[in-house]
Amino acid sequence: MYYVKVLGKLRGPFSPARALALLEEGRWDWTVPMSEDKISWQPANEYPELVPQSADRVLSADERLCPECGGVVKAKAILCKHCRRGISAA
Ligand SMILES: [Zn+2]
Repeated sequence: MYYVKVLGKLRGPFSPARALALLEEGRWDWTVPMSEDKISWQPANEYPELVPQSADRVLSADERLCPECGGVVKAKAILCKHCRRGISAA
């Protein structure tokens, strides 16, 4: 789940899908501070799992896309960190 800071106010938690929908609606700027733990904050556009996947998204050699949610996970991951579903090794 994600928290956002809008005009100094803490909002959330939002599911990744909800957060993405709000970003795409233009409710928030892509530079809005966002956090999963309310401790470390970074702009929304630095969360790979939120940035819309595009064909030119370059994955590192040790990354792949979760077949369930499309989030970027480690190539060797057996559990997706985004949707928590089990994913078989590539
Ligand atoms: Zn997933």
